[in-house]
Amino acid sequence: MRKHWWLLLLVVAAYAQQSQMYVFCYHTFSTNLSSPYNFRPEVFRNHLESLRNAGYRFVSWQDVLSTNLKGSRNILITIDDANVSVRNVEGVLDEFGIKPILFVYPAIIGRVHYALTWEDIQRLQNKGWTIGAHGYYHLYVNQKLYETDRNGFFREIGMSKRVLEKRLGTSVRLFGYPFGLYSPVTIETLQKENYAYAFTIAGKPAVWPPSDPYQIPRYLMTPQMWHHLVRLLITTNNVAHKE
Ligand SMILES: [Zn+2]
Repeated sequence: MRKHWWLLLLVVAAYAQQSQMYVFCYHTFSTNLSSPYNFRPEVFRNHLESLRNAGYRFVSWQDVLSTNLKGSRNILITIDDANVSVRNVEGVLDEFGIKPILFVYPAIIGRVHYALTWEDIQRLQNKGWTIGAHGYYHLYVNQKLYETDRNGFFREIGMSKRVLEKRLGTSVRLFGYPFGLYSPVTIETLQKENYAYAFTIAGKPAVWPPSDPYQIPRYLMTPQMWHHLVRLLITTNNVAHKE
């Protein structure tokens, strides 16, 4: 045991170099929608204020990639599905200087009343938001789809990327698993399609650099999850927060 003390030291040193962030997965910000994933805009603003007041820093995906991530009090906001109500919080996000990741499934964009338009998404991208793919039709991209509808499986991963890239004139490297579902074949296909990172809803802190870039955990935001996070991040003087 004693002669291996330096090994322990190496492990501790390696761990100390890792940063940590909490990745939140929001959906809609409507004033009148009844859904466990909806937060009214003023409630969302309260989330941001509470976190900022507790000393958390909102990081963009660019910050994360440029290794501009220090310590553990980092929050990365992500928003799934490109609902039209994202417009309701665009102002507050601007005000806080927050540039989220927006995970988009192209099938609905500009086609249904509850979705953002391509102009919206282009505008958000121009502001520094990062656009990621979220399937094409928002199907379960898992082993079962791979076995029962091979074309559909590849469309969810390949066509979503190509349509976003063509529409937005940028390269799309991020994937958010619809419903948080995936299988080993999903990760293999993401790698072949040149995605670099994928996001789950595993509900735990994300260490950076990640041990598996295709399984970056997010917290699926519901009122219950917010209460859990308040206890974890704000009211508890957690040892994990020492920097
Ligand atoms: Zn979704």
